[in-house]
Order: sequence, then C-alpha cells, then structure tokens
Amino acid sequence: MNKPHALFTLLLLLLAGCTGPAPQSVADLPTRAATAVPLPTALPTNTAVPIPPTFTPVPTALPSDTPTVTPIPTATATATAVPTSTAVPYGYSTILGYSAGGHPITAYQLGNGPDQVLFIGGIHGGYEWNSILVTYRALDYFLENPDAIPANITLTIIPAANPDGQFAVTGLEGRFTAADVATDTFPGRFNANNVDLNRNWDCNWEPTGLWRNQEVSAGAYPFSEPENVILRDFILAKNPVATIFYHSAFYAVFTAGCPDTLPASREIADVYAYAANYPVYEQFTSYPITGDAGDWLATQGIASFTVELTNHTDLDWPQNLYGMLALLDYFAQE
Ligand SMILES: [Zn+2]
Repeated sequence: MNKPHALFTLLLLLLAGCTGPAPQSVADLPTRAATAVPLPTALPTNTAVPIPPTFTPVPTALPSDTPTVTPIPTATATATAVPTSTAVPYGYSTILGYSAGGHPITAYQLGNGPDQVLFIGGIHGGYEWNSILVTYRALDYFLENPDAIPANITLTIIPAANPDGQFAVTGLEGRFTAADVATDTFPGRFNANNVDLNRNWDCNWEPTGLWRNQEVSAGAYPFSEPENVILRDFILAKNPVATIFYHSAFYAVFTAGCPDTLPASREIADVYAYAANYPVYEQFTSYPITGDAGDWLATQGIASFTVELTNHTDLDWPQNLYGMLALLDYFAQE
C-alpha cells in the first residue's frame, strides 16, 4: 500500500467514525447491554433517587410488629418528627438529634404502655463510660426478656447522653467495649464545647460549676448545649413517671430536688436502692452541684434519681438489674 492510498483509507475510516458505527442488527443490542458494568449489589445508603412507581414497596410492617434486628433504613417507625428510626425487637430506636460535635443521641424505646420510664447513661461521657455500658446491658436484657416490661410501661433507654465525651475516649459512636476505652478518660467528661453537661441545666445554674475541687464550664447559659436541649424536650414530651441517670463512681443512689427533694423522687429512689443494695442519700454533699439534670426535672414535677456505680469500670450487674426490675414492678398495674 502506498502512502496516498493509506491516507485515503484513513480518511474513510475517520468519516465512518464521525457518522457512527455501521448499523447493527437489533439482535446485537441485548448482548451489548449485558456487557455493561453491573449495578452495585448493595445500594448506597444515600438512595435519595426517587423510587420508580412500579417498584414493590419495602415491607410496611410497623416496627413494633417486626421481630427482627435487621435495620430498616427508611424512617417508618413513628409519625412524630424525628430524623430517623430503626426497628428493634419489641420497639425501635430513634436518633433524637446530634451533639455539639455532631454525634447522634439515640433512644431505644421498648414496650408500648402509657407509663414512661427512662434510663439515661453517660451524661459524663467517656469519663464515666461504665454508666453507658450498664444501660446497654439493660437494653440487651430487656430485648431478650420483653415480658420483664409490664404492659402499662414503655421503657426508653438513652445509653449515651454525651456522645462527644464517649467518642473522645473510644473513637466510636454507639456500642463499644471496655477494650475500646483510652487510658486517659479525663477529656471524655465534657462535650465538644468543653462543657460539663450535668452543670448546664436550669437549677441553681452558675456559669462555672465544680467537679471535685476543679472548676468546669457550665455553658453560656442554662440549656446552652444541644445535648441538653434534646434531652429536656424529649423528657418533657414523655412526661415520665421515673427518669434514672447513671453515673460513676460514688456507690450510691441520690434523689433529686431543687432545692428540696421531690417526695416522688425519694420514693422511687428507695425502691431502686433497696433492691440494688446501694445506700441512698437525699443530697450529694461532697461538693456543691449546680445545674444538675435530675434536680431540674424536680422543678417540672418529674421524679428522678441518680445511680452512682461503685467504680469507673464495673457495671454492678446484676445488682442494677434488680433495681430496674423492682422499679418496673413498682409501676406495674395488674
Ligand atoms: Zn457523673
């Protein structure tokens, strides 16, 4: 082939390229389509693309009817305006909102009775990480033993009221184990704004609180911290018969009041402490406490007490289970 001939052939080929490939028979098309890159088998989580109307809907069973731990990504659990809800056995979990550092605060709601009981762990974050794990331990127990929740009670467990503090010492959101906890747990007491969340509630609030003999930030004003706004609004909406906060480590149960102990708080604190074999005190007297969560609940007429675990590592289990069961039994209606 001489050069001009080759150029002419090239020109023809280019022209052919410009006008598209030679027509193919229709029978070729499926084969070509089948060689396309396969669709990912796992859909990405951000599947905001509208589902074609011809799609079969995802199972529409309400969470309480769904006996499975498989997370359901769509927020079908409740009609209330919450960001996301996920079915768990005998109930569902809900992300109530996000911390100053952007970590979720999750509530697990079990049972369906009109009387609300709340267990809240970890308001002092990773510094009191066993107060988080004891509420997860309770969650597991009541998931395995749904009959332990009386029919008239809804039990809601919020394991980590200060997820920033948990994240600071574990690097994790949600569940963790003791092996995940850093040696230095001190920074885990506070949220991402460096505020002690249990000095930020509106009972005797002061801008600077005390932790032992050390001054800590109590926030710019009462309820300045998003975690506490979330918790406050959730508790007020629930109007619970009992709210229990877990802390460590004073080996005691403390009743709540502002300034005086709420009689209903004292009553349920006694029930729990007796069954769990903790000494019970009306006030924490080791150093002045300002802006305490349970004390503020007393101003709203909501009964509450604090469980201080014995040390910073043990869950005091089944000791606390006995207290929890006694409390539920106290509110049970035959
Ligand atoms: Zn604490």
